[in-house]
Amino acid sequence: MNTDILTIAIDGPAASGKGTISRAIAAKFGLRHLDTGLLYRAVAACCARAKADPSDPEAAARIAQTLSPEDLNRADLRSAQTGRMASVVAAHPPVRAALLRWQRDFAVGAPGAVLDGRDIGTVVLPDARAKLFVTAEADVRAARRWRELSLKSDIAYRDVLRDIHERDERDAGRANAPMRRAENAATLDTTEMSIERAVDEAIRLIEAQV
Ligand code: C5P
Repeated sequence: MNTDILTIAIDGPAASGKGTISRAIAAKFGLRHLDTGLLYRAVAACCARAKADPSDPEAAARIAQTLSPEDLNRADLRSAQTGRMASVVAAHPPVRAALLRWQRDFAVGAPGAVLDGRDIGTVVLPDARAKLFVTAEADVRAARRWRELSLKSDIAYRDVLRDIHERDERDAGRANAPMRRAENAATLDTTEMSIERAVDEAIRLIEAQV
């Protein structure tokens, strides 16, 4: 990889704050940003639209191989249901293989990029210049996600918490590219932090690596 290109890998579980942090880091360093969760969400949404079974690796992989940029702009990608189905399609190795090239192609364009997801520092960009693993206690993450989702739908906190636990288990427990901190990643626990403080800390931890 061209060393003039600055690549930053940010991983962590749902609602840890990594999305907001990644956008702020991209703005701070003048980089492009890819929320890689959107790719898996788009595969899940396209499966639903095509009435394909998301637990069928081949059906989901066919959809991942033909994903288009427009599929990332669909309105239903942020729903809890799509997030749940995204973690089902994300466990299939051929789906991950189809999305790997897309992510790497995005990262190598000048001047570089911030990618956030679950396996960026470990699999997608193992040579990223800076790596951060953002985490927080599950109940705090569920409360954050519930506040967001309850603006748009009638959803109970306990269902959001259950969903967070299930997704954590599926994402960290899968055999292929499980969610985990890369050995050389800095850790940021945002449990007790406001988002402003978390962004400041993240910038400090990244600046120490670039
Ligand atoms: O981050 P977000 O909640 O949008 O991700 C949706 C799902 O996509 C995650 O629960 C995870 O299963 C999957 N994902 C992944 N690898 C990534 C990004 C997301 O497996 N790099």
